[in-house]
Amino acid sequence: MKQESVNASIITIGDELLIGQTIDTNSAWMAQELNKAGIWVRRRVAVGDVRQEIWQALDEEMKQSDILLLTGGLGPTADDITKPLLCDYFAGKMIVNEEILTHVKDIFENKLKRPLLERNLKQAEVPDCCDVLLNKRGTAPGMWFTVPTTSSRTKRIIVSMPGVPHEMKGLMNDSVIPRLKREWDLPQILHRTLLTAGVGESFLAERIQQWEEALPSHFKLAYLPNYGMVRLRLTTTGSDLNGLQQELDYLFAELQNLVKDTMVINEDKPLEEALGELLLKQKKTLATAESCTGGYIAHLITSIPGSSAYFEGSAVSYSYEAKERLLQVQNKTLVSKGAVSDETVREMLNGLLQQTGANYGIATSGIMGPDGGTPDKPVGTVWVAVGNKERIETTCLRFRFDRMRNIQLTAANAMLLLFRFIQQDTA
Ligand code: ATP
Repeated sequence: MKQESVNASIITIGDELLIGQTIDTNSAWMAQELNKAGIWVRRRVAVGDVRQEIWQALDEEMKQSDILLLTGGLGPTADDITKPLLCDYFAGKMIVNEEILTHVKDIFENKLKRPLLERNLKQAEVPDCCDVLLNKRGTAPGMWFTVPTTSSRTKRIIVSMPGVPHEMKGLMNDSVIPRLKREWDLPQILHRTLLTAGVGESFLAERIQQWEEALPSHFKLAYLPNYGMVRLRLTTTGSDLNGLQQELDYLFAELQNLVKDTMVINEDKPLEEALGELLLKQKKTLATAESCTGGYIAHLITSIPGSSAYFEGSAVSYSYEAKERLLQVQNKTLVSKGAVSDETVREMLNGLLQQTGANYGIATSGIMGPDGGTPDKPVGTVWVAVGNKERIETTCLRFRFDRMRNIQLTAANAMLLLFRFIQQDTA
């Protein structure tokens, strides 16, 4: 039977989530994956390792959601109460699952090379009223319960998975999402995203207001601001994949045209990745000279697989001495103009390009806070230089956040300045 929409609740279990010791990254990740599959997440609930609380959460979420995804509380310790609870909730009996038993024994004997305790063997016990999902990355299996309903909803599906994020992700990718897609005739959800810089959210909204208001009802535009830039994500939902794709491409092209002077990239990817692709395309290399960012830009760049093809390296030159020794910044420049100055970042960049032979470079120097500001150079003042041997561009940025955010903003803006510099340079 075809249902109008399929919705889900996510229940994450564990006292550590409630006291904030563990940040609940599982439900954010699961919500994204469900959303990509065309399933609407209507509620996310966190509960402690308390039987009554978990039971109540199940009762509550079963009332309205077609799918309940649970993580946590499946391990071999006393506080792991999810499995016996689900067995009681669905009136089952615990039985030993031979496949899981062999799997658990194999992990202990061949991979961990540790003695198997009675409590580990318990991992192979599962309620007889569920389908068992083999967890290739750990010992606690996933459990899939199907409950027929008499309402307009055809059925409810409850899936319990371990709390360890990479085990949960493995089960979701290998079994849960593919099987959910087979259970329902799910709608297609398509997105296209572009990144703009230099203008604020409200300014963009004004500019595209007419176009946005005229969007068909199955299209939605989201404004996602971050690091002083704004991503625009156009989303559509429906059943005809080809038709939707064509309509989306057409409207996305219109959107690109409306914001073209502010657009940086027309894809949903981090700036460091887009910068890497641009360098690769131009067959050019990059190096960074980082004072206030302390190597953070280099870290972002090298987080992208394959960055060795275009990234030469970084000089984390924090002190005057390091700036002089590693980058040949003149002492008199540092003394007369200060480390946070146009002249210093220029000399840092020149020295960097000489030392590394890279085609392009970024240099940063600033006051990240919370202390160290002066009336003419308050906390958040940053000088950035980007360029090559022929030409250097410098910019003074001013931020007003905490230290880490100031560093992140400097990195994002420095990469943006270089991205635009290379675009102009190679146009
Ligand atoms: P295992 O059988 O491997 O112990 P489990 O189902 O018992 O799995 P938990 O004991 O609840 O899982 O959690 C295991 C680990 O996973 C802990 O380090 C915990 O911090 C982490 N974890 C649990 N729930 C979440 C969550 N919602 N988001 C992120 N991490 C989580």
